Amino acid sequence: MTRINILPPHLADMIAAGEVVERPASVIKELMENAFDAGAKKVTVEFKNGGAPYIRISDDGCGMSPEDAGIAFMRHATSKLHDERGLEAIGTMGFRGEALAAISAVSRIELCTREKGSDEGIKMTVEAGDIVDMLPCGCPEGTSITVRDIFFNTPARLKFLKSDRSEASACIAAALHCALGRPEVSVRCIRDGAEEFFTPGDARSDSAVYSLLGRELASSLLPCRGSADGVSVEGFVSSPAKGQGSRSRQYFFCNGRYIRSALLQSAVEQAYRNTLLTGRFPACVVYLTLGNAAVDVNVHPAKTEVKFSEEKKVFDAVYQTVRSALEAEDKPLEISLSEGTKKLTESASATFNDRPRTTFSRPSFSERPAPVFKPAPARAPQSAVFRSPMPEYDSVFPASTKSENVEKAVETVEKIASPAYRLIGEALNTYILVEFDGKLLLIDKHAAHERMIFDRLVQSEREVMSQTLLEPILVRLSPEDSETLEANGETLSELGFELEPFGEGAYALRALPEDIDPGDATAAVEELCVKLRTGGADDAKAGRTELLHTVACKAAIKAGRRHDPAELDRIAKAVVSGEVRYCPHGRPVSVTLTKAELDKFFSRIV
Ligand code: ADP
Ligand code: MG
Repeated sequence: MTRINILPPHLADMIAAGEVVERPASVIKELMENAFDAGAKKVTVEFKNGGAPYIRISDDGCGMSPEDAGIAFMRHATSKLHDERGLEAIGTMGFRGEALAAISAVSRIELCTREKGSDEGIKMTVEAGDIVDMLPCGCPEGTSITVRDIFFNTPARLKFLKSDRSEASACIAAALHCALGRPEVSVRCIRDGAEEFFTPGDARSDSAVYSLLGRELASSLLPCRGSADGVSVEGFVSSPAKGQGSRSRQYFFCNGRYIRSALLQSAVEQAYRNTLLTGRFPACVVYLTLGNAAVDVNVHPAKTEVKFSEEKKVFDAVYQTVRSALEAEDKPLEISLSEGTKKLTESASATFNDRPRTTFSRPSFSERPAPVFKPAPARAPQSAVFRSPMPEYDSVFPASTKSENVEKAVETVEKIASPAYRLIGEALNTYILVEFDGKLLLIDKHAAHERMIFDRLVQSEREVMSQTLLEPILVRLSPEDSETLEANGETLSELGFELEPFGEGAYALRALPEDIDPGDATAAVEELCVKLRTGGADDAKAGRTELLHTVACKAAIKAGRRHDPAELDRIAKAVVSGEVRYCPHGRPVSVTLTKAELDKFFSRIV
């Protein structure tokens, strides 16, 4: 039998550190939370590469006295908790007194801090948990901590770190989560010397929301606000029309802390019931505020999971708030980011039926002008949409035929080959009406067109034809999407997207698949990124088909818009010839009403 040993404190700290410091991003989270707890109004987060070699967090908070700094790195050293009564209603981000001990056990730290009102600061060097040096120094009020060489003394953990790109993206995500949780604090995040994001600290969360969710989604978010039974809910949810391919864009905050919560996730998703297609998920940024005693944050070392004492109340408040935001969306409101704000604040207040004192309103998304992006160039004239012959004629003409000849020949062949049908017109800007073979055909123009494009793309097995933009447009992506994009550059270029890095999280889009409206480009790239992340990579062919779905859907003409009769005619032809029956998702593209059915309607026959 082996003997029982009491672990030496250094080893115990290194093991404990594993719970708190999982990767460089956890260091950023812990140090930012300390800055918030110190009452900082401005926090700067800098890091290099993936964060492991260098992270520096500076704040203008209360600072530490030399005595406090001397013990701050010891395990269970905290100024935030004194007895067990305090634990019940903890209002600070930290309280376990573990973060600094854990971080310093696995890195080299330099701390500069000056207590508010004190003449002089101190500079302290800590290495693998030991204070190496401590000297008076001149520094601004507040605290700045530099963490170098994370995991230098735990090679096994160092080996588990992912690529710099992955770690950096986790660092940015951690900084954004913290920044989003505290919109009243101004946060600047700098990676390798370049600014990653900045929040103004004006207590509005919209600029952080922009950085986090990307312009395309952020601009279509619906604001929501509500409160009931001491639970207040505020935030932004996506319109049902912007369903996401995964849950990766659901963010929840409880009393300023970023949390993961199956309860809140389900409350939001229930509110969308019957408005989202199966397999689509809402995006949201939801802030929950409730009494500190009503939530236990001490159930997880990193405190990203919490326990609510009254889960049903929390669920109901979130559900009702989101529901009323979605119901209010049906009202014809102008949601223009800059102008629509007044209307939004004035309108749409709802009440819980059973709780008369509960009110909901839709706060403005932003009163400041939205960030400036280059406007997408107007869509090419409709006649230019079909620049090349449709696939059904591809085989008829060798590629070398001169283009005028092709057009003439297409006309002739169309006349000969087309089955007899009559295009009546378009109804509701959505359905093409065709008389064919003694029947009335109603065609869903988007679904049919999507199928035609999809078939063409699948058959060609070549790179997707792309259109070069005269003026590139700026595409902004979330850190997660940027990472996916950069790891899959080749795939995206095969799909016809030509993107060049244009500063952090931004890309200049120079070319996109033909027929895709440049205004839909960001949405298309975002959807492709989600598919690239979540799709099974084991079968390349199935993966490509899945991606082509997105390209086809975005390239197809849209319901609700008027289209050129010649274009509608081409679609009608493809349907009556039997070439197109189902959209790529399996839904039928047309409905047939026979003369007999119509006669029955009008009681012409019984
Ligand atoms: P906790 O946050 O759980 O108290 P930490 O190990 O994160 O534990 O920090 C230990 C203590 O060091 C804190 O309680 C606080 O008193 C002090 N401290 C840490 N960071 C800062 C900072 N940025 N500004 C002022 N004091 C700080
Ligand atoms: Mg802390």
